[in-house]
Amino acid sequence: MKLHEYQAKTVFADAGIPTPDSQLASDVDGVVSAAEEIGYPVAVKAQVQVGGRGKAGGIKLVEDADEAREAADSILGMDLKGYHVDRVLVEEAVDFVNELYVGITMDRGEGKPVAMVSTKGGVNIEEVAEEDPDAIAREHIDPSFGMHPYQARKAVYDAGVDQSVARDVSSVLTTLYQLWDDKDGADAEINPLMVTADDEVIAADAVMNIDEDALFRQPELAEMEEEAAGGDELEQKADEYGFDYVRLDGNTGIIGNGAGLVMTTLDLVDHYGGEPANFLDVGGGAKAARIANALDMVFSDDNVDSVVFNIFGGITRGDEVARGINEALEQFDEIPKPVVVRLAGTNWEEGMEILNEDLVTVEQTLEDAVQRAVEYAGEVNDQ
Ligand code: GDP
Ligand code: MN
Repeated sequence: MKLHEYQAKTVFADAGIPTPDSQLASDVDGVVSAAEEIGYPVAVKAQVQVGGRGKAGGIKLVEDADEAREAADSILGMDLKGYHVDRVLVEEAVDFVNELYVGITMDRGEGKPVAMVSTKGGVNIEEVAEEDPDAIAREHIDPSFGMHPYQARKAVYDAGVDQSVARDVSSVLTTLYQLWDDKDGADAEINPLMVTADDEVIAADAVMNIDEDALFRQPELAEMEEEAAGGDELEQKADEYGFDYVRLDGNTGIIGNGAGLVMTTLDLVDHYGGEPANFLDVGGGAKAARIANALDMVFSDDNVDSVVFNIFGGITRGDEVARGINEALEQFDEIPKPVVVRLAGTNWEEGMEILNEDLVTVEQTLEDAVQRAVEYAGEVNDQ
């Protein structure tokens, strides 16, 4: 489980790591009033769980209310690397002279956690690791003893961090390790850890991945996971149903089983000139009830104008999926949005026969199914 930046920052700040003053906002007015309270300039930052948000247009520095409004308008609702942005962090902008990297992760090869420090912060650290591996100082830690202060100092020294901030950076690194250990972390990372002209260090970004299997003993973090989904009603619903779901900006709803199959469908919708409304993977063993839940999700998305089912029968047979689709659709007096179905795999022929063509459009190939769904979505748009 990955915490959002704003959540990881709360965790880091509670442990004593300096973080900028910030507020979460989900609409334009909220961004402006947060910015006024914090004081300009502020950074407006998309809260989605991907790196490289700055380059993708998800982070903007603003100097006044007009700029704040403009930034909020462009970032809220945007599709950032496949993630729908519905919240931004409004944050005191840091005037920095240097960007460092500090992180803790598990070194699988060594079977030990490793602390990492680099003066090449602010950019993707994987790229640094590839192009200039010596620019990252590493210090392995024995988890039964924890991280000794001298280990932190050594890593900071080896990385070539300036003397004037070495002490503060070491202390941030030690705290980060403590958190990683206490919170069952898989990774904990600050990139960039900014250094200001007056030699202060401040965590301008925060990443914290938690071991999913340990969430039961981290109730506060488990609550954060729920809250993270809470910004979006549909994502909350997806959590309840146990679906892998990502909301996108288009109007062609997509339901499939297996991430690869859903991705392929997404790409095809795009290929045929449509726009995917979502990624929805119902997973294996897609019994009738799950199919009904998936339809409920996609139908309750106002942006959706048509739906395409792409199901590959494996453990769940095509005939069973077909019955599920029929049952789910029979509950409506009127089908809310046109549904196109393509079945493949085990018992697909039986499935095709079972499908009630008064309720759905059946297509033999994925290409035909996607084209048809895109066409339907386009017709609704033209009206
Ligand atoms: P990421 O690219 O998604 O990891 O987002 P980050 O939070 O790491 O921000 C990326 C870059 O945006 C940083 O390396 C900075 O160059 C810039 N940035 C972010 N916050 C601030 C800020 O408060 N002040 C300034 N001047 N730049 C910022
Ligand atoms: Mn970052």
